[in-house]
Amino acid sequence: MHPKESRLRYNNSHLVNKASVFESLSFDSPATIKQVAGSTRLSTPTVTKALSHLQEIGLVTEKGRKDQPKGRKPTLFGLSEGYYWLGIDLEIPDLRIAVYDLAKRLIKSKKDFVCVDEQDGDVERYLPGSVIDKVKGFLQAQDISVSSILGEGVGVPGMVSEGTFKPFSRLKNPPSIPLKEPLEKKLDIPTVIGNDVDLELLAELDRRSLLEEPGVVAVYLAARPSKATHNSVRIGGSVFHDGTILQGAMGSANEFGHTSVSRGDHGELKCNCGNPKCLETYVNQKISGAPAGRLPEEVVEVLTDKLKDLIFLYNPSLLIVDLLAFPQLSSPVLEGINQFIELRHGHLDFDGPEVVTPGDSEMACARGACIKSFQNMAVNPEKYPILSQDS
Ligand SMILES: [Zn+2]
Repeated sequence: MHPKESRLRYNNSHLVNKASVFESLSFDSPATIKQVAGSTRLSTPTVTKALSHLQEIGLVTEKGRKDQPKGRKPTLFGLSEGYYWLGIDLEIPDLRIAVYDLAKRLIKSKKDFVCVDEQDGDVERYLPGSVIDKVKGFLQAQDISVSSILGEGVGVPGMVSEGTFKPFSRLKNPPSIPLKEPLEKKLDIPTVIGNDVDLELLAELDRRSLLEEPGVVAVYLAARPSKATHNSVRIGGSVFHDGTILQGAMGSANEFGHTSVSRGDHGELKCNCGNPKCLETYVNQKISGAPAGRLPEEVVEVLTDKLKDLIFLYNPSLLIVDLLAFPQLSSPVLEGINQFIELRHGHLDFDGPEVVTPGDSEMACARGACIKSFQNMAVNPEKYPILSQDS
């Protein structure tokens, strides 16, 4: 059962209905009561009641009447202005803060940075503190009040669990850094934390209008230049299946960059992941040994092979390949994959995924964080005070 269906079936309270109606208008508005009833599978009296309360609390407004040839023209409803979502990309040391309107259109964003020096110790305390100060400063400068923000999402590198994260690709011995709790306490905004690569995938699927599409299995592999460590590359991955991102038991599923490469020399480079022969160190070793501007053939081969394995493993309908770290590799790798798909046609009824490159890489994580926050409201509406307040 789709998570959305189970929600409707087992918890039919007014609050959940309001969240469903709000969610529906976020995807498609302006819309009539009948249209909202159709997309939410709620009755028209239930939708009418939910819309009336959403109007009272200011999240929804009337948007004129629907033009139709016969009969009374029904009222159209849409999302109000003046309320926002916050999407934060905590790339470490880079930080991006972005404000989106209720239709998830970008309103304002700012590039900033947080100071991280492991020698200082106590990163668990000063990192969240630094993020809080930057967010407060940004909102103040934009003249946006905290009470107008419905929720915020934060994308972070590494393992994410229960609102804490371990940025093992940024810090040598990262502790579990709490983020959700301090942010909610100091900013008073419902907060969700997600892995940055997972959020990039969410943003890409949203851009392609595939988030609500049934049967989508998407696999994403990203190789990005690391800003924290010069001349190195981070390789991450994410899988979307049945409407959700696969998380794994410890919040670190689909770290494709840390899967094994048995061939060749891994050199002196050691990865904090604990796998002595991981893909990420192999690629970094090959790059560091190559003459400037030249990329070794082995990197193309190893990335192409990894993508072939992912096609077998997940049988995706969509394969997204983000080789921002090596733009010159993008076409040989994509060519290799397409040849492989061609070769497998006719074997085991194989049809092959659509292979694409992502649209916006720069803002993808912040946008994905905003989307995650929006999705969380639909599942846990009781955590969002604006929605549950009395008018
Ligand atoms: Zn590793």
